Amino acid sequence: MTPTFRIALIAGDGIGKEVMPEGLRVVMAAAERFGFELDCRTIDWASCDYYAEHGQMMPDDWKEQLKGVDALYFGAVGWPATVPDHVSLWGSLLKFRREFDQYINLRPVRLFEGVPCPLAGRKPGDIDYLVVRENTEGEYTSLGGVMYEGTEREIVIQESVFSRHGTDRVLRYAYELAQARKKKHLTVATKSNGIAISMPWWDGRADTIGRDYPEVKVDKQHIDILSARFVLQPTRFDVVVASNLFGDILSDLGPATTGTIGLAPSANLNPDRKFPSLFEPVHGSAPDIYGQNIANPIAMIWSGALMLDFLTQGQGIGRAAHDAIVAAIEAVLREGPLTRDLGGTASTTELGMAIAQRISAS
Ligand code: ATP
Ligand code: MG
Repeated sequence: MTPTFRIALIAGDGIGKEVMPEGLRVVMAAAERFGFELDCRTIDWASCDYYAEHGQMMPDDWKEQLKGVDALYFGAVGWPATVPDHVSLWGSLLKFRREFDQYINLRPVRLFEGVPCPLAGRKPGDIDYLVVRENTEGEYTSLGGVMYEGTEREIVIQESVFSRHGTDRVLRYAYELAQARKKKHLTVATKSNGIAISMPWWDGRADTIGRDYPEVKVDKQHIDILSARFVLQPTRFDVVVASNLFGDILSDLGPATTGTIGLAPSANLNPDRKFPSLFEPVHGSAPDIYGQNIANPIAMIWSGALMLDFLTQGQGIGRAAHDAIVAAIEAVLREGPLTRDLGGTASTTELGMAIAQRISAS
């Protein structure tokens, strides 16, 4: 029997609607080439168009409508001209992350041949690491409040939350990843010199979990110098694990050093596989370029590759499809066609077709 994966397609807003068809084109080509089927469910909510009609981002029964899907393939959400960003984001993407317990945010950071690097003198191979961000707790909570509001005595408190369960599971995931890689190196982002309660505790959990992974070399670095080294010494990194806030910052800084935001993919994972995981480009809906068919679809396409890899637990046809897609991306970046952000003149569609054709011919 042909393996079948059930995918919800959520294009969202802006260039999400332009890169989604190209992502789909490529994963479909991979399905044909490697012998699996995608059972796709197209979702028109989780978009600002839906909001305009219904006054909310998603229907009340959104979970029902996603029953049985294995993964969400997500474009981008946000159209600030009509819906404030915090409303569109909290009403869709952040709901998925929390309700589906997608506690890992994984972002590969890699410099490709053919893409000019903003860091002087860097060549492909110098930048090739994974950022693992804790995605459900840490500094991002709504616990706190304001006292004496609007007066000279105003006081604001916002709490951070680090549970042992939440911390251990992200650390363990990162150790597992590091262990499976050639360098077996893990950088743990910390700030135990300044944040004197939660961060020394976080470091301690990293030591405890690390006892199960004696082969992994661990390097704890304060977030300030770690950020500087992303720019100055990117070759130091292999797998980097960080709390929600630190990971958020690092996972934008990393891709920024590799040339264009149009390449960076991300995975929001529920590794326990109790709920579907979500795969999306790092970039947003880019209203400034929407409607011209010039957005770079590679971040969307690469996210699709991560999805296929995750669906087969990094093995078999999904892994083969992932590797073929990444190889096709490498080839196109080397030889063209290229979109405008990469210095070319090709359209979104032309790039998607070029990558799909390489996979079919591989
Ligand atoms: P977010 O929605 O995450 O808050 P944002 O709205 O601040 O992000 P983006 O929508 O990612 O930002 O756009 C930032 C800039 O990058 C814009 O100038 C946009 O045109 C450009 N950009 C984003 N994605 C792409 C892409 N796929 N191809 C080319 N340019 C892009
Ligand atoms: Mg935006």
